[in-house]
Amino acid sequence: MDRIVILTGAGISAESGLGTFRDAGGIWSEHRIEDVATPEGFARDPARAHRFYNARRAMAARARPNAAHVALARLQAAHRGEVVIVTQNVDALHEAAGSRRVIHMHGELARALCAACGHRWQAPAEMSGQDACPRCRARACRPDVVWFGEIPYRMDEIMGHLAAARLFAAIGTSGQVWPAAGFAETAARAGAHCVEINPEPSAVAGDFHEALRGRASEVVPGWVAGLLGEAQLP
Ligand code: NAD
Ligand code: ZN
Repeated sequence: MDRIVILTGAGISAESGLGTFRDAGGIWSEHRIEDVATPEGFARDPARAHRFYNARRAMAARARPNAAHVALARLQAAHRGEVVIVTQNVDALHEAAGSRRVIHMHGELARALCAACGHRWQAPAEMSGQDACPRCRARACRPDVVWFGEIPYRMDEIMGHLAAARLFAAIGTSGQVWPAAGFAETAARAGAHCVEINPEPSAVAGDFHEALRGRASEVVPGWVAGLLGEAQLP
């Protein structure tokens, strides 16, 4: 089977107005990771973390997919083999662009998780620690996002896709957060051709066979056209 696996990171959503994490002026220059992206920070001050994610949820709800999201959805629809999108992003811009089969390895802003019983449901626009779980009634509601120190979702499934990939591409990710940073090495060892699409070399740029330097919205549409065998405008 002709399988393509695409990993996306904050960079693909940057041109939709959602800030990246590590760039200057990024989300983490204003918030401490320890406060809003670790289980310990959440336990110390749940209200602070809820405020942070409520604001991000509102921003994400207003954001629109850009040309890169749209091109990947087109690739999924038009490619003869399977195209799996694995995203580290908690926004829903791939789905908004029409993608199916999106693996949200770091969870989704639009989902709520009960820390007491593990039940998941559609998050309200404004989440609070006082919300009761619809299943067990515990007041232990949290965003369904994976924090530092927690294990990303669907890793077995992702590893299976990487092992079977002919082509692996990483788009808009800095290669600083594991295990996603190791996907290129895993895919390359399994025989995939690996392409990095990012304006600058990531921390794991050496694991890729090819680099396309530029913004996602400018590079991805042409790259997809090439994969689909279409003539490209100069
Ligand atoms: P990142 O901010 O570390 O890296 C973004 C990358 O995108 C950079 O390499 C940058 O050069 C590139 N970029 C910037 N503009 C671009 C554009 N227009 N087109 C293409 N690329 C562009 O983001 P990341 O690699 O996604 O971070 C890894 C993951 O870590 C995050 O997605 C997030 O899930 C996770 N994280 C989570 C939390 C949390 O709240 N749970 C906190 C921090 C990080
Ligand atoms: Zn519960």
